[in-house]
Amino acid sequence: MAGFQVHAVTALAISASVASYATAWHHFPLTWGLSLGFLGLVGGLLPDIDSGEARISRYSALIFGAVSSLFVYLFYQNIWAALLLFVPFAKGIHYALTTWTTHRGVFHSVPMCVLLSIGAYYGADLLRFPHFYALYCAAFLGGGYLVHLVLDEIWSLRKGISKHCSFGTALQFFRRSFWPSFLATYALLAVVVYYTPFLRAWVEQTIRGIY
Ligand SMILES: [Zn+2]
Repeated sequence: MAGFQVHAVTALAISASVASYATAWHHFPLTWGLSLGFLGLVGGLLPDIDSGEARISRYSALIFGAVSSLFVYLFYQNIWAALLLFVPFAKGIHYALTTWTTHRGVFHSVPMCVLLSIGAYYGADLLRFPHFYALYCAAFLGGGYLVHLVLDEIWSLRKGISKHCSFGTALQFFRRSFWPSFLATYALLAVVVYYTPFLRAWVEQTIRGIY
């Protein structure tokens, strides 16, 4: 797989360029543009949270713990609750990452990319950003995520498919050996799409267009 630096530099270069263009085009405030660039970078690093590397699991848990606490603060306006919940949030996520995930499992897959992109949309929506900008947030997180998956596949090819059997294990839709986690991801995705009106309308329209 491509290393941390390759993923970070590529994701940052692409997301910063596209974010600059989008910011100039839509006259977004600078902070919005910077946030988009940052989301692209996060998306570009996110799939490897299942790598099992202690440092990555620790940093991921800290970041997710901080983001979860931020949402608690924003919704309940209670700084003490947010601070108190930070440790259980971070510990819980760290436990989940180190116990339940397998590298190149469901986190290196397209359905998880879509699910987390919708998560970014809801995050921006909950923070009361306009629908249009929330869609941008989803696109940047998802775009960075896809760049990571494609890079991993390119790296597998560079090493030679015959020598490196990891080809096809990054940009995947389903893998039999990890069927429970894939099934759970697809089920969650279906529920999320069902309860997101504009996505549900889009899916229904697409299905009607096919038949
Ligand atoms: Zn990877």
